[in-house]
Amino acid sequence: MLLSDLLFPRTCPFCGRYISDQQIRETYLDWICPDCWRRLPRTEQDLKAENSTETALTEGKTVIKKALHLNRAGAYLFYEKGHPIQQVIHRMKYRDEPEWGIYLGRQAVLGWRDERFFDEIDVIIPVPLHPKRLRERGYNQSEYIARGISEITGLPIDTTHLTRTRNTPKQALQDGEGRKTNVAGAFAVNHPEQLYHQRILVVDDLITTGETMRSCLQAMRAFRGATISVFALCKAQ
Ligand SMILES: [Zn+2]
Repeated sequence: MLLSDLLFPRTCPFCGRYISDQQIRETYLDWICPDCWRRLPRTEQDLKAENSTETALTEGKTVIKKALHLNRAGAYLFYEKGHPIQQVIHRMKYRDEPEWGIYLGRQAVLGWRDERFFDEIDVIIPVPLHPKRLRERGYNQSEYIARGISEITGLPIDTTHLTRTRNTPKQALQDGEGRKTNVAGAFAVNHPEQLYHQRILVVDDLITTGETMRSCLQAMRAFRGATISVFALCKAQ
């Protein structure tokens, strides 16, 4: 054991086990132990153009896909109830540990096997929080995920053209129908002409029913001629 391990012990957020400097050197991972890394609930959606994330947004209908200007959609991990990923997402969103977004965003790009997914993009737009919620929380977790993606791809992040105009109650408190009316029209765009014909990657932390993202995509139709892809860190099963 090295002195630095004693001074700055790192423990795996999934199993609580200690992560040694030797493991870090061997695996290049300093935030998760190798066993939990292998067992992450990956969706494999990087290999499937048609997948449950896309279906949540389009309900499987090509006509809706076209209307929303949706190019591709995919999630990196499944959000499984009872799996430690739930804890990590909770810490990222509510416990002032947004760095998880950077780790996981980075890792998603490194592990994504369809290289074109991130190649054919000009700019990343994280799903914005309402300014009031942003002030309360102090950060937007989706922006941290976008930063992780940007570190690896070099793509710029844009946080000015898409804004949240309505502060909606937390999604978990809403039932199915309430959710629809709740997020519809919750987003607006600024200077859309600056993003005409751009290839945009919208990034969110978690897609459940897809209502929030669909509302985002509706607003982004103002970016005329833009091709829009969606990346979610997690997709609820
Ligand atoms: Zn572990």
